[in-house]
Amino acid sequence: MIIQGRDVSRSAREAADVCVIGSGAGGAVLASELAERGHSVVLIEKGGYHPRQDFDQREENMIPMLYKNSGLQFALPSGIAVAQGSCVGGSTVVNDAVCFRAPDAVLGWWGDQFKVEGVDPASLKGHYEKVEERISVSEVPEYALNKNNLVLKRGAEKLGWASAPNSRNCKDCRQCGLCQIGCSYGTKQSMLETYIPDAQAIPGDPVKIYADTAAYKLVRSGGRIAGVKATISGKDGRRFGLDVRAKVTVVSGGTIASSQLLLSSGLDVNGQVGKGVAIHPSPAMIGDFEEEINGNQGIPMAYHCHEFSVLNTGKRGYMLESIFLPPYQFSLPVPGVELEQKQLMSRYKNYALIGSLLQDESVGTVMLGGPLGALLDYTVSAGDSKMMVEGMKSAAEALFAAGATRVITSHTKTTVLQSTADLGTIDARGVAPGAISVGSAHPQGGNRMGGAGMEGNSVVDSDSKVHGFENLFVCDASVFPTSLGVNPQLTVMALASRLGEHIGEGWPGYSK
Ligand SMILES: Cc1cc2nc3c(=O)[nH]c(=O)nc-3n(C[C@H](O)[C@H](O)[C@H](O)COP(=O)(O)OP(=O)(O)OC[C@H]3O[C@@H](n4cnc5c(N)ncnc54)[C@H](O)[C@@H]3O)c2cc1C
Repeated sequence: MIIQGRDVSRSAREAADVCVIGSGAGGAVLASELAERGHSVVLIEKGGYHPRQDFDQREENMIPMLYKNSGLQFALPSGIAVAQGSCVGGSTVVNDAVCFRAPDAVLGWWGDQFKVEGVDPASLKGHYEKVEERISVSEVPEYALNKNNLVLKRGAEKLGWASAPNSRNCKDCRQCGLCQIGCSYGTKQSMLETYIPDAQAIPGDPVKIYADTAAYKLVRSGGRIAGVKATISGKDGRRFGLDVRAKVTVVSGGTIASSQLLLSSGLDVNGQVGKGVAIHPSPAMIGDFEEEINGNQGIPMAYHCHEFSVLNTGKRGYMLESIFLPPYQFSLPVPGVELEQKQLMSRYKNYALIGSLLQDESVGTVMLGGPLGALLDYTVSAGDSKMMVEGMKSAAEALFAAGATRVITSHTKTTVLQSTADLGTIDARGVAPGAISVGSAHPQGGNRMGGAGMEGNSVVDSDSKVHGFENLFVCDASVFPTSLGVNPQLTVMALASRLGEHIGEGWPGYSK
């Protein structure tokens, strides 16, 4: 059952085995796994419920409808734009469907440095397989690579760099190019098309979803969470209360919001909540080609180059990923104003775009305050700034190798490279706040996982249970102890599948 704000006319009380807050990659998989095991779940989602029939393929309508704060969220003082979805299905509804398993090296760091147990490649394998099957992950076939993706392929191959097609969670993709504003064909196998309807189809309707409903307080009673308080946004701006009593509470609001909820509920028992946030800052480089690329036609993200990534080197680095965006989102990092930007945008059809996803240090902190209730304090470290510059130079090299006549950077001062001889300009311009437009779509951490002996610098244990509480868990990207270095949705889902098994089959102390 999905209850939308517009259907509510009075405050409500609910009781369930488990209350899950947030219906994205973590919350939806978890709710479904628990329901499959016979547990009742109340799933609270701040954003609205929008089935694919609501997706009209127009940026001006879809961005405000599907994104947190209409897509406007920035880390400060770096000024990096951090995009997150906010709707039933969370960021999976607006993401690019790229699927990677966590690099073995990264899971190794989580074990070595954070003493996390049971999150190694062998232990996660079954969970990855289960999720991959359910969301139909498969490699993009050669014929489905559009010219934008082929630019990265050609450039990487010419330079002898390791590269490959992406795997994606898409079935019979129509290649409309609009993944980031909701898949109106329903071919992207987001939570909206998979785990949410699965949960709805279970006989007895064990999962009750409250959309348009924001949890604002976890009510503590000693070492337990006794209840969740939420506000339902109803018709005509009316607001109603929702009180949920559950044996187990799971926070799955995503990085930033999950820490925000723990902090505003006064549950920062060890001073670690909100610490250690990474965001994968990803500057984009535009290559201008004589031929039309028409990057907006076809799959936006279907190819990557992992030559400089942890996947290839075992060390922190960056991934080059082909990406393309509809015109409004594309224009945001394009430099210049008025006529200059108009002239640059007039070449849209001839542009190819490569993003360099930086596997950053976890230096961000979530704090209460600001118009959204929480702020992300994040400054790119000195080491990461150097690596970001290297990533941008590699992207430019790949574009030139593929035949670009010029490369435009996302520096705020219009910067056009005519050949690889100009790469030094990127060093000169730098990546200081204000010098460049950088985007992020992968916030992670803030409620880090840590095993025995690491209680002092983590928020949850190896089973995702919040230290010091018997019945409070976190299940989303915020539990990552370090930056993943690859697109994170699959790992969030695999961890949720693992937690579903753990809670669902009765962790010690929990009885149905
Ligand atoms: C534009 C874009 C493109 C991306 N592309 C890819 C990609 O191709 N591949 C990939 O692996 N990853 C991609 N990602 C990232 C990926 O989607 C996320 O890492 C993943 O969905 C995170 O899962 P989560 O459960 O932590 O949070 P989310 O999926 O973001 O879900 C959190 C949900 O909780 C809700 N919520 C928050 N606070 C509250 C509250 N107080 N009460 C109730 N509900 C609340 C939010 O509204 C949201 O719906 C992309 C993200 C974006 C934004």
